[in-house]
Amino acid sequence: MTITSNKEKKDKGILLVISGPSGAGKGTICDAIRKIYPKLNYSISMTTRASRQGEKEGLNYFFRTNEEFEVLIKEDAFLEYAKVYDHYYGTPKKYALDKIEKGESVLLEIDIQGAMQVKEHYPQGVFVYIVPPSFDVLSKRIYGRGTDSEEVIKKRLAQITDELAMAHKYDYIIVNDVLEEAVHKTCAILEAESCKLSRNEGQVEVIFKQYINKEVDSL
Ligand code: 5GP
Repeated sequence: MTITSNKEKKDKGILLVISGPSGAGKGTICDAIRKIYPKLNYSISMTTRASRQGEKEGLNYFFRTNEEFEVLIKEDAFLEYAKVYDHYYGTPKKYALDKIEKGESVLLEIDIQGAMQVKEHYPQGVFVYIVPPSFDVLSKRIYGRGTDSEEVIKKRLAQITDELAMAHKYDYIIVNDVLEEAVHKTCAILEAESCKLSRNEGQVEVIFKQYINKEVDSL
């Protein structure tokens, strides 16, 4: 590596995108990751769906009307947005990009359409596909949540084959059979990505400079 400038290169943070079919367990994995890494920034999505029992504005989602959401689309306020089962969901652009620019990492939990949009605009992101171990497990999980109508559940399950076909566009795949293992693998991905030389050029430069200025005789 050649050390050329006196100016420090600022390393960007990681955009970790956790995605996959509904019922894959993305939310549960993200909750566990946030407990393990309390300093990891989490992007709160905006949605036009009604809040569910126990959900709080600004904590689970920013809940908005269709009209409000569409104004924000026109203002180019989203890193990505998608209509998921008849409701809009979107990732506010400013929060995530500001943090990454500052060198802080951001966790996103989004559906597959959204992840593919992020990949188009920000291919340096790390894209992780979470898949349930089988169709039976997936349908049990979705029914077991008890949060959606029969009609919504059927729509979600009907989409699964198309959604599985998108897995090859991701960087990593995790089969979420045993939750602890899936969480462990997600942590391993985050740790490995954070050690990549290409993500640490600025830091490496600072460390190398210290070595270069040392005289062995003076020790
Ligand atoms: P739910 O209504 O169950 O909270 O979420 C439904 C689906 O929308 C899930 O697959 C979830 O990952 C996805 N989702 C949540 N937030 C976003 C977002 O900001 N953008 C996109 N594209 N999908 C999202």
